[in-house]
Amino acid sequence: MRRVYLDHSATTPVDPEVAAIMMTYYTEKYGNPSSVHGFGREAKQALEQARNQVAELIGAASGEITFTSGGTEADNLAILGTAEALRKKGKHIITSCIEHHAVLETCEYLEKNGFDLTVIPVDEEGIISVDALRKAIRPDTILITIMHANNEVGSIQPISEIGKLAKEQGIVFHVDAVQSLGKIPVNVEELNVDLLTVSGHKIYGPKGVGALYVRKGLRIVPLVHGGGQEKKRRSGTENTPGIIGFGKACELAGQRMADDAEHQRKLRDKLINGILERIDFVKVNGPLGEKRLPNNVNVSIRYVEGESLLLSLDMLGIAASSGSACTSGSLDPSHVLLGMGLIHEIAHGSLRFSLGRQNTEEDIDYVLEQLPKIVERLRMMSPLYDQAIHSKQA
Ligand code: PLP
Repeated sequence: MRRVYLDHSATTPVDPEVAAIMMTYYTEKYGNPSSVHGFGREAKQALEQARNQVAELIGAASGEITFTSGGTEADNLAILGTAEALRKKGKHIITSCIEHHAVLETCEYLEKNGFDLTVIPVDEEGIISVDALRKAIRPDTILITIMHANNEVGSIQPISEIGKLAKEQGIVFHVDAVQSLGKIPVNVEELNVDLLTVSGHKIYGPKGVGALYVRKGLRIVPLVHGGGQEKKRRSGTENTPGIIGFGKACELAGQRMADDAEHQRKLRDKLINGILERIDFVKVNGPLGEKRLPNNVNVSIRYVEGESLLLSLDMLGIAASSGSACTSGSLDPSHVLLGMGLIHEIAHGSLRFSLGRQNTEEDIDYVLEQLPKIVERLRMMSPLYDQAIHSKQA
């Protein structure tokens, strides 16, 4: 059976070059980077090279990179670490309603523990209004945390503008760039950010490794205490092979980003247009064109359940997702789609296809051949679809 992987926003395969370099640091150069002997120094040197590679991709200095166990930990460190560092200055935090759970749940945890939280709405394309954000700012606002690009609908936020505003007001600005890294340019200076989260497994690197960019001079309180690694920001023996793989993945992402984006944008538009041509009662979620990540397709197909679509696609070897990977398994409709104003019924029939480096035109042709047949079969069981067709014809 043909297998087509279209869930790269959930995770990507590890690039063979990345896997090869990681293997060396598991089996041959396995020293602890804190050890003073040759094995340790060898690991330390590679660790610092990886730090440079990550820093270079986001326009930072290597000293501003703290390695973590992934995007979730980096988001927690940014938000909790800032709240703890600035709790005497103020207790107000601003975020948006389409953030990843790693941000939303962390902010809600703080809210339960004495902080005030304002959650900014988004428009029907999933984009935050800078004006609404400006109005939410209070004298005691200490942190604004907004994602660069949304993981479900691919909407790209006006980060540079928000950053400028935060800077003018002296508010710390954190950005979750897990989904934008490697797909569109991410530069901490151009974006005016103080803290920025990235993760390895979304850019053809390993799972369980990520980093937090912390602007030089900014103080955050650590979450993990111990041996004082990572300039005391994140204790624990470093995941050296993982970090080295992440560094290599960043280097490759920098080299391939323009070609990858062009290739995926072409496939994205072919898939969106193909679905719209072949299936009726379809809504594209998120913006079209430049405000959308090059690899994201998200559609709501009325009169079918997203979960049934997913299972039927899976039986034909096609991997997609409904809502975010972390919440699939739950039948709650996506908070992102609801935040964009979709009603429950439409949000339920939504599907996300996220493209990757290895996808081909043939992959898209296969989906466009199979999906309409699946939808037709599922809709045969829907009395609501029957009614809709009749009222359209009437
Ligand atoms: N932030 C966003 C926007 C994500 O999409 C994800 C993962 O899906 C994360 C954070 C969490 O990253 P990790 O899986 O590395 O913990």
